[in-house]
Amino acid sequence: MHSPRSSRKPGWKAVFLDRDGVINYDAGFVHRRADFLFLPGAIEALRSIPSEYKKVVISNQSGIGRGYFSLEEVEELNRWMVDRLHSGGVKIDAILLCPHAPEDKCRCRKPKLGLFHQAQRALGIELVGSWVIGDKESDILAGKRLKSRTILVNKNRVERRNPPRVRADFKVAGLREAVEVIRSRSGETQSETGNLSV
Ligand SMILES: [Mg+2]
Ligand SMILES: [Zn+2]
Repeated sequence: MHSPRSSRKPGWKAVFLDRDGVINYDAGFVHRRADFLFLPGAIEALRSIPSEYKKVVISNQSGIGRGYFSLEEVEELNRWMVDRLHSGGVKIDAILLCPHAPEDKCRCRKPKLGLFHQAQRALGIELVGSWVIGDKESDILAGKRLKSRTILVNKNRVERRNPPRVRADFKVAGLREAVEVIRSRSGETQSETGNLSV
């Protein structure tokens, strides 16, 4: 059978962003506006992502599967976040979430790749040369499996609690620093940057 993928022209690259702990404070199962607080500099950082990258938010929201809150509540909050970002000059190209609990054994909860592949198909994204930014090992592991470049933010907190089993390509304090890494490397091929850690 003819495979459209093999003959496809090079597509967009993406910056895949985790939500909680990357864009907003991770206060634990954030699902209400009252608990949603943008991290300092996050909006400016998102605005300075080079235009060659699609901006895709991919988020595990197991609070839905655990029965803590509803899918509708999370979607409402996400719409509000996207509107706020839009007012700040940031266009989010896609936002995808996994609503399942860990024991559901779904195919979309990070570090599984279901949501990344969904975004890839919908937006025509090339994974090599794309970036994954997250604050947890599951984010970094997903990025490694995608063969994208990976940036761990909030590195101090993660490492103090839990020595990582998987090594991010870059470890930085926050989203602002992560975007600086992307901007400084975006002209290079991935093989030039793939295994550097800072
Ligand atoms: Mg997170
Ligand atoms: Zn899922």
